[in-house]
Amino acid sequence: MLKLFNSLTQRKETFKPIEDGLVKMYTCGPTVYYYQHIGNMRAYIFMDSLRRTLKYNGYKIKGVMNVTDVGHLTSDEDSGEDKMELAAKRENKNPYEIAKFYADIFFKDLELLNIDIPENITYATKFIPQMIDFIKGLEQKGYTYQISDGVYFYVQKFPSYGQLSQKDLSKTGNARIEENLDKHHPFDFALWKFVSPNHIMKWDSPWGVGCPGWHIECSAMGRDLLGDRFDIHTGGIDHKTVHHEDEIAQNDALAGHRVVNTWIHNEFLLVDGGKMSKSLGNVYTLNDLKNKGFEPMDFKYFCLNTHYSKKINFTFEGLKSSSAGLKNLKTLVIEHFNGKEKISDENLAKYKEDFLNAINDDLNMPLALGVLWTMLKTEKRSKQVFDLVGEFDRALGLNLTVFEEQKEEDIPNEIIQLANKRQVARNNKLWAESDKLRDEINSLGYKILDKKDGYELIKQ
Ligand code: AMP
Ligand code: ZN
Repeated sequence: MLKLFNSLTQRKETFKPIEDGLVKMYTCGPTVYYYQHIGNMRAYIFMDSLRRTLKYNGYKIKGVMNVTDVGHLTSDEDSGEDKMELAAKRENKNPYEIAKFYADIFFKDLELLNIDIPENITYATKFIPQMIDFIKGLEQKGYTYQISDGVYFYVQKFPSYGQLSQKDLSKTGNARIEENLDKHHPFDFALWKFVSPNHIMKWDSPWGVGCPGWHIECSAMGRDLLGDRFDIHTGGIDHKTVHHEDEIAQNDALAGHRVVNTWIHNEFLLVDGGKMSKSLGNVYTLNDLKNKGFEPMDFKYFCLNTHYSKKINFTFEGLKSSSAGLKNLKTLVIEHFNGKEKISDENLAKYKEDFLNAINDDLNMPLALGVLWTMLKTEKRSKQVFDLVGEFDRALGLNLTVFEEQKEEDIPNEIIQLANKRQVARNNKLWAESDKLRDEINSLGYKILDKKDGYELIKQ
């Protein structure tokens, strides 16, 4: 039984899709005006864990992830400059070139992290008619009004507005009306924004030339591909109070009923205890980590060691110990690959059960990794354990069983055991021990070559 924490009800609920065996799921994707940083990547690693866990439970998935290639404004509200046009000016390109450049890098990063990519990737610029159609529907139902700079959603017409983030319409606190004093309520948000003639990305609409509001994008693409009732919507916690609140208002107002059953949010990745910021020079990308000698999987393993709903503090020290941990883990996996022992069916069944219980308890990946470690460390070296690692890795996505195979027939088990011991010593920086083991291997007639991802043994 899979349980997931639903942000909307604030409870862990037993998951049951609307349609038997099929999960319809929407994920807020990137805005491609710049590189995605490692915080963004945490959101997609969380999506990956969810998708893999659903599949592990036998579900098929119809997933949608958007790519925001339309410039919405620099703040979540409706003020500021258009991010895409700003980037275009900065890089002397047109906004379409900007979108393509950063989207390509994003998808490469997803691949490097072995992230299970949603079945449908939707680019906002390809869904403008659906967005216009959505706004027309809201207009017909009386949820919109037009002022000088655009068409807005009138939140007071939607009484349950604010349920997701427990926002009260009567308590606007310091929410600003921004520079737009014509808005009826500070929480009203743009569905369609008029733009000046020199704006590059712009479309015709029944209300005038402009571009869509950011929130309508996700609502319209979700509706087009997943219909007006679907199972799961994911995104980072920062999207909960505005973007997702506004999506719910649009969706449910148009459909006349709840559209999304379960909302799930990942917590933030912090760097050195705070928000990443350009001024502190600590906005890292996956490529920055690679340049410092880390593998993408080191970062994924680092993320999986903290539950998605908890803040995670990124430091290079932390990443270093994750990297060493993952190396040790893989060394054990290789030992089991070469193992000849038999494991009791009872033990294997217990590990399977514990692992499934962990991932099904709201994606408790840290606990699932604990089950994996216990199995690898306590069991005698066995191919059966190795096979089970392969099964578990369907949920973890760490490529645990991918390594260069040793030619077993040439190399005696005794030598492989020594080489593995040496690898563990190296991972733990026990250089003297590692050198001793190398000498021992040499004296038995084998040479050991260190590789990026382990070692290679050669008969001398
Ligand atoms: P954006 O391109 O800003 O819409 O962000 C893409 C995804 O990354 C969204 O789901 C955000 O909520 C998420 N996100 C942004 N910053 C962080 C962070 N520091 N930690 C975790 N998730 C983040
Ligand atoms: Zn979204």
